[in-house]
Amino acid sequence: MAISYIAQLVIRFLTDIILWSRENFAMKNQNRSEWNLNTLLNHPKRIIPRADNPSLLAPIYQSVKFVVSSEVGYGEQFIYGRVGNPTVRQLEGLLSDIQKKEDCIVLSSGLAAITGMLLGLLKSGDHVITFRELYKPGRIFIRETLPKFGIQSSILKLHDLDALEKSIIPGKTKLIHFESPTNPNLDIADIEGIIKIARKHQILVSMDGTFAGLHQHTEFDIDLMVQSLTKYGNGHGDVLAGSIAGKKNLIGQIRQMTINLGASLDPHAAFLVERGLKTYKLRIEKHVKNAAEVADFLAQHPKIQKVFYPGLSSHKGYELAHKQMNDMGSVVSFVIDPSCGITADQFAHKLKLIQFAVSLGATESIICPTHYFFGDDLSPIDKADLGIGPFSLRLSVGLEDAEDLIQDLKDALEA
Ligand SMILES: *Cc1c(COP(=O)(O)O)cnc(C)c1O
Repeated sequence: MAISYIAQLVIRFLTDIILWSRENFAMKNQNRSEWNLNTLLNHPKRIIPRADNPSLLAPIYQSVKFVVSSEVGYGEQFIYGRVGNPTVRQLEGLLSDIQKKEDCIVLSSGLAAITGMLLGLLKSGDHVITFRELYKPGRIFIRETLPKFGIQSSILKLHDLDALEKSIIPGKTKLIHFESPTNPNLDIADIEGIIKIARKHQILVSMDGTFAGLHQHTEFDIDLMVQSLTKYGNGHGDVLAGSIAGKKNLIGQIRQMTINLGASLDPHAAFLVERGLKTYKLRIEKHVKNAAEVADFLAQHPKIQKVFYPGLSSHKGYELAHKQMNDMGSVVSFVIDPSCGITADQFAHKLKLIQFAVSLGATESIICPTHYFFGDDLSPIDKADLGIGPFSLRLSVGLEDAEDLIQDLKDALEA
């Protein structure tokens, strides 16, 4: 007994020395015992766990600056939060792993990812091709902001691959940027068709895969995959974030630009996204199951004129979607029969459980009319072509019980 007690004391003594020396190491050059109150308040003893005793969950490095080391070059260290942060870097590693890309950069929003990518890749005199079906703020940025920097664009119809090839300007066209499924009516792009044309002309391809999520389209040879993590990635509707995953050299080139733009993600936001991702697969399964049930209900309702959901055989992208995707996501768009005398806006306000709000891919179901939020910059012809009008809505199906969502839709349609 006595011997083991003494042995324990010795072990504790040795451990204390090790811990003490670690703390001491972390606070080298400091004279704590001589400091006054304000100095102590601003320099708490830093606790750094041993390398073989790390916290299981990643700490949030909620610090703008890092103490500069003399051991390695300045370019290899974390120095300033806008340029790099370990919490943010860990999220980037996770996102490149799950999307099967060499590298990834996370940014302060999905839109920052789109605009940062465009500005990082393109220069004055270049030309970019995209589609009218694009997420509205990205479409507006390409059409109205890029020309200020001498970057021209062609905005085409998603399914017109002939026009795509004809729009290529040799030596000038550098990028084709597209989405699939598209907002708000879930058009499906012919990804192989687009990539084939891009490769033939040695043009880069970027895809915004937000509506499909992070787990889909990873097998395609897409140079840069953009995601709004604000949606399924974080999944809880409480963080704005975006990412671009792709080849190391391209991500490096974009990173230079986005650091200069100041679009970095805050470490606390990165932590929340990483936490949200733990349940990503479970959430997606439930989202998709709910969406399929809601889409079936709407498709059979006499007051609904049309439902846009790639999982329905009536959807024009049904076959392509099943070729390219493992699941069809949880956005269901639909048009109320105009003869019912209720507009999309009136309907959205009538629902009691499903809230009238924008965004998608979070735990709560939300709905919004499409005409104001997604199409007010389009010509009347394009709007009609894309199914955007006064009676059309976009529903993001959440994680509630499908029967309650269906009851809410039923009540509002019958009232
Ligand atoms: C929401 C969204 C974006 C923009 O993302 P934010 O995080 O809101 O900036 C980009 N693309 C698509 C397809 C989106 O749905």
